Amino acid sequence: MKSFTLQSTHITTFRRKLLLWYRTNGRDLPWRKTHDPYKILVSEIMLQQTQVDRVKEKYHSWLTRFPTVQDLAKTSPKAVLLEWSGLGYNRRALSLHTAAQQIVNDYNGIFPNTVEELMKLKGVGRYTASAIASFAFHKPTPIVDTNVKRVLGRMFLGYKTLARYIDTDEPFWVLKERILPKSKNAYDFNQGIMDFGAMTCTARQPKCGECPMQKICKSYPGILKADNELLRVKKKRKEPLYYGKPRRIWRGNILTLLKGVNTSLTVLYIGKHIQADWDATRTKWLKEILNTLEKDNMIDIQKKTDDNWLVRLPK
Ligand code: SF4
Repeated sequence: MKSFTLQSTHITTFRRKLLLWYRTNGRDLPWRKTHDPYKILVSEIMLQQTQVDRVKEKYHSWLTRFPTVQDLAKTSPKAVLLEWSGLGYNRRALSLHTAAQQIVNDYNGIFPNTVEELMKLKGVGRYTASAIASFAFHKPTPIVDTNVKRVLGRMFLGYKTLARYIDTDEPFWVLKERILPKSKNAYDFNQGIMDFGAMTCTARQPKCGECPMQKICKSYPGILKADNELLRVKKKRKEPLYYGKPRRIWRGNILTLLKGVNTSLTVLYIGKHIQADWDATRTKWLKEILNTLEKDNMIDIQKKTDDNWLVRLPK
């Protein structure tokens, strides 16, 4: 596995500057005002594919509706999906629900506090597990996401080398482990590097002109003239389109329709309401999508006959 050579003075200066920057510029986010692992899990799952501003609004209403992990565990999948409305990627909501049930049933309602145990929870990968270990349990655990990878890569490797390794993750976990202070500052450092990546060392247009790291950054000043390809963060996978939209959008539209009614719907009704130019030749395609939603436990289908399906949210 590739490992990068670092100078300890470079690490020390970066730590010091980052912590100083964070103390003045860190974002005031509601999930930073708590060490409750449940609240941090909720925020991290919401943040996985949704912008911070949208998560802020939803985070409060979610916690009003499900204040504790026990409240979430005992609710119905339907209530979970309804409360998740507006965030998209509904599978995350059901994973969060399952994770809550695991904590209540397998851990007697007490959150595990190691990355290894946290990763056993549904929908919790290495990043989320590390975030909970650091933000809830104050463990000096490295956290690496796209922002962190970009900041570390630009700072310690240079943007050209970063572009070569952008599709690998493990070397950046090793790098972060090395750079993370093993003191009470680990929490601020983990939060700070994410804010720095979101606010200053941004993906497309890093604010190098106002950056306190210029003198120690391996990418500066060359990055100012770098083209988009070298600034890219991650290859975007092209999703296949069905009638002009990716399948996840159709799945989302079906769920939105079902959330708005308190009854079962026929396939024909769904087809006509999700596509203005619906015609019956698309029935097979729509049924395939409905089957995937049923497989993911997002809907219930009562298949009376081959031509007569009744579809609704799970109870
Ligand atoms: S100088 Fe530019 S590239 Fe380097 S850390 Fe600052 S913002 Fe990022």
